[in-house]
Amino acid sequence: MKVLLTGGAGYIGSHTAIEFIKAGYDIVVADNFSNSKPEAVRRTRELAGVDFPFYNIDVCDKEKLDALFSAEGIDAVVHFAGLKAVGESCQKPLEYYKNNIDSTLVLLEVMKAHGTKRIIFSSSATVYGAPDTVPIKETAPVGRCTNPYGRTKYFIEQILGDAAVADGDMSVVLLRYFNPVGAHESGRIGEDPAGIPNNLMPFISQTAVGKRKELSVFGNDYPTPDGTGVRDYIHVVDLARGHVAAMGYAAAHTGVEVFNLGTGVGYSVLDMVKAFIKSTDVNVPYKFAPRRSGDIAECYADATKAKEILGWQAEKTLEDMCRDTWKWQSANPNGYN
Ligand code: NAD
Ligand code: UDP
Repeated sequence: MKVLLTGGAGYIGSHTAIEFIKAGYDIVVADNFSNSKPEAVRRTRELAGVDFPFYNIDVCDKEKLDALFSAEGIDAVVHFAGLKAVGESCQKPLEYYKNNIDSTLVLLEVMKAHGTKRIIFSSSATVYGAPDTVPIKETAPVGRCTNPYGRTKYFIEQILGDAAVADGDMSVVLLRYFNPVGAHESGRIGEDPAGIPNNLMPFISQTAVGKRKELSVFGNDYPTPDGTGVRDYIHVVDLARGHVAAMGYAAAHTGVEVFNLGTGVGYSVLDMVKAFIKSTDVNVPYKFAPRRSGDIAECYADATKAKEILGWQAEKTLEDMCRDTWKWQSANPNGYN
């Protein structure tokens, strides 16, 4: 079976490419390098031991995407391609709506023209907004997003749902990721954020490597055990394997299904800093700073549905997440540059 990974040069896509190849799938990657580097593709091929086909195309470009489908014969798609920076999405909402939604619509049109019926979509826990309760189940209300990025995820979930209602042979799996961190255990591929990282883990590792002076801990007055924000951090390789499990499910079912991909365990910002220092023996200077606008106190998954239906659960520990992040960061202080 041949699977197209849109955005497969990116952080999650590159790790998922390796897991799909390990599981025996043929893959094709399409990416326009708007937030990734050719070096990531080179290293992913090297780690996988397979020279999978790569297309440097914008998924919004229907002609080029159609040519890819004609040349490759695609059986299923994992749609990672999208812009993902929350803050930037508030500055450039139209760019976010255009790229994320157009790419999905074009992809669906091309899939329809070629009779490709299976799609797995990279959604996010951000569709839950501020949850009423934690842990969050898939049945919790969605759409109360606090930024344009989150709304693109919510709208795309609706679009994919409508497409599956209209075509009873389609299989759509919506994966709501919690907080992906870590890197391949080789340290050869990992997260390479452009500019100053927004997310906690890359900020911690860039501080540890000396690229940033100190970490600002955003808020220490939340109603959490130590006052700092709590999230569900999941190792990117566990997350990648969740996609392989979801593809098995999509091959055997039609309709729309949604799964949280998280560990089910919440850790605070200070838990993460302490775990990183303990696992790596490298110091991470930090100071407390005001809350970041739009942040919520606690967000972690109820991960039982994926376990029961997909037979998948996260296996890697917090120590694995910290060790592998450091392996990548210390060997590649400037990312892929
Ligand atoms: P990433 O930016 O590393 O990867 C996305 C890739 O898509 C990049 O390589 C980028 O160049 C490519 N891309 C963007 N628009 C494109 C287009 N129009 N045509 C072709 N390629 C395009 O991000 P990631 O962290 O690997 O995230 C992958 C997906 O998962 C995204 O959809 C993201 O919104 C979603 N997600 C990520 C997180 C996270 O914390 N990393 C959490 C929840 C959901
Ligand atoms: N955070 C922080 N300092 C940073 C980046 C993040 O204290 O430099 C906190 C943030 O307030 C949140 C947690 O770390 O409580 C995770 O933030 P991230 O941006 O990684 O994920 P998200 O908020 O999108 O879940």
